[in-house]
Order: sequence, then structure tokens, then C-alpha cells
Amino acid sequence: MALTIGVDIGGTKVAAGVVDEDGRIVEHRLRRTPAESPERVADTIGEVVRELAVGRQIEAVGLGAAGFVDETRSIVRFAPNLAWREEPLQKKVSDLVGLPVVVENDANAMAWGEARFGAGRGESHVVCVTVGTGIGGGIVLDGSLYRGRWGMGAELGHMQAVPGGRLCGCGNLGCWEQYASGNALVTEARLIAQAEPARAARLLEIAGGAPGDIEGPEVTEAAREGDPAALAAFASMADWLGQGLSDLASILDPGCFILGGGVSRAADLWIDRARESFAARLTGRGHRPLAEIRLAELGASAGVVGAADLARRR
Ligand SMILES: [Zn+2]
Repeated sequence: MALTIGVDIGGTKVAAGVVDEDGRIVEHRLRRTPAESPERVADTIGEVVRELAVGRQIEAVGLGAAGFVDETRSIVRFAPNLAWREEPLQKKVSDLVGLPVVVENDANAMAWGEARFGAGRGESHVVCVTVGTGIGGGIVLDGSLYRGRWGMGAELGHMQAVPGGRLCGCGNLGCWEQYASGNALVTEARLIAQAEPARAARLLEIAGGAPGDIEGPEVTEAAREGDPAALAAFASMADWLGQGLSDLASILDPGCFILGGGVSRAADLWIDRARESFAARLTGRGHRPLAEIRLAELGASAGVVGAADLARRR
């Protein structure tokens, strides 16, 4: 069976695996990302690939990189959390390992892994939304990964949800991820705790007393104990999530949405509300099939599996 290697390069971790044609990881490695040095990142990738390739016939290597990847799938133009600027990652790594290499955006690689082998199996039109600190995305249309003209497509978190709204890390105001992500959940919880401390009594107790000390895990814990402010923060996030998904359905009409990322680990607290919000806002509702909103199935390995499979189809 033909094997490829997928490598998922994030701001803190490099995860790599040998993957077979059925999307199964045969062997796996995890390293810290030397984020400050592009040379050392390339060296780390080279090392894990060479280790994994020992005694195996490897066809190609797919890299899922946390950054903006150009349309030739070889250069990382910019990465918010790594020192990559116009980084020729494809050439560097293929010189180090002597194998064909393709570079993909990490969220695209994850989306492809989920669409092919995870929650989207059998669906030809899939939109993946990674709800973590921010919101990442990946789009599969007609069975192909959609990258856009310049490779910059599917940055779903930066649709403008609120004109003149909260400042986003990208420099714009009111981006969707400022209302529907893990950061948004914390922002909302802090705002409520500030304005109505009595309503957030348990949440503030768990967080140690100050609204500014509230973080995601505290909101989740307080919500599980029924704290009204924490539940309201989850409800707000879920409503905004549903709103954005209905916008995406207006444009892309997918068969299903797949939600992943850190916030999806507490999905029992918000997924039903997000589904209701989506269904209530969808244009043409009642006269069209409702796209399913599913949870991701592959967890942290989606990026490795997706990058490896995209390398196979290079
Ligand atoms: Zn933004």
C-alpha cells in the first residue's frame, strides 16, 4: 500500500505521521516547534520525515502550515505565529528529505482530512469551521479542496459580522471570530461579569474574583454548574456561530458543516443552540434541505491525515 507522510506545523507543535491510503496513521511523531527560526523549523520537519521514512517506501510529503500559503503550494507568504515571511518551505524540505513535497494551509489540510476520512465521509460539499482561539476554515467543493485564486481562500473567521465592531487580530473591526470563537466566549463572559457581577457569582468565584481573570476553562466549568453569565456567554457564541454558518450556506450551500477546534470539546454546551440559530436564519428556510452541523471526528490528527492525503494527490 502506498504511504505518504503528513506534517502539521503549528505555532507550538510539529505533528507528523506516516499515513496509508485509507487515512490511517501507521506511525506518529510529535516535536516542539522552534517557532523563532525558519531554518530550525525546516530542520525539525526534515528530521521527523527522515525518521518516519526509515525502512519504508514513501511516495510524497504533505506539510500543513499555520500561515498563508501561495497558490503554487510551495511558499508560506506570512505566518502570524511563526517567523515565516516569504518562506520557500517546499524547496527547503524537499532538499532535506529528497522526496516530493507539497505545502498546504493547516486549516485546509484539516478540512480535507475531516471531509475525506472523518465527519464528512461521503459528502462532496463540506465546510469545516475550526472554533478555537479564533476561527479557521476549509472548504471542499465538488470533492476538491477550494483554495481560491491566490491560495488565500477560506479565511472564514474574517468575514465581517459587526460593522465597526470589536478589533480583530487581523486589524479589521467586527470579524466573525471576535464573536463566535473561544476568545469571543471569554470576551463575552468578562463583559457580563463586569456589568452584572451578581449574575456571574459562581463564574467569578471559580476565576478567583476578577472579570479579567476569566478564561475559557472557567467559563466552561461555571456553565456546567449553571452559572447564568457563563451560559449566556455560550449562548451568544452559539448564536453568532449559527449566524455565520447561515451566511456561508447562502454562498456555498454545503451538504454539511464540520465543527472542530478546542471549543468543540465543550460542544454539548452550545451545539444545539448553534443548530437552532443556523436553522432560524437560513435564507430559503423551509424550502431547502438543512445542511447538517456535525462535530469533527479526527481530533488533532486531522491535519496530519489531510496533508498526507493531499500529498498523494499532488
Ligand atoms: Zn479579522
